[in-house]
Amino acid sequence: MAVDCIFCKIIDRDIPAKIIAENDDVLVIQDIAPKAPIHYLIIPKKHINDIPSIKDADICLAGSIFSMARDLAKKLPGSQAFRLLMNNGSDVGQSVYHLHCHFLSGKKMSDF
Ligand code: AMP
Repeated sequence: MAVDCIFCKIIDRDIPAKIIAENDDVLVIQDIAPKAPIHYLIIPKKHINDIPSIKDADICLAGSIFSMARDLAKKLPGSQAFRLLMNNGSDVGQSVYHLHCHFLSGKKMSDF
């Protein structure tokens, strides 16, 4: 747990969030400012600031994120498309420095 990290506080249930799913490695919450009808955040429970800070010993967390995304996708209606997105660095929009992956779905996304 990192002091003053909002996601660590959510993981520890010190502040509320809408919890979508959870396992030993990751917590999935509803984004507080959704950019799509479905906008989840897949958050490793271990505090890691960003992608460059991931140690080799923790690289398996990337698999935990993907396996959770796969499980979330199975619950989408039909064969709905989804997008995974990770911002790394403030210049591309990272605002919370606790590793997380956006899971977006429910609308057409052609821009990129
Ligand atoms: P990023 O800008 O890529 O670092 O993503 C951080 C995301 O966290 C943004 O989409 C915010 O809307 C979201 N966020 C910030 N605070 C909260 C919170 N308390 N509960 C849920 N989502 C949050």
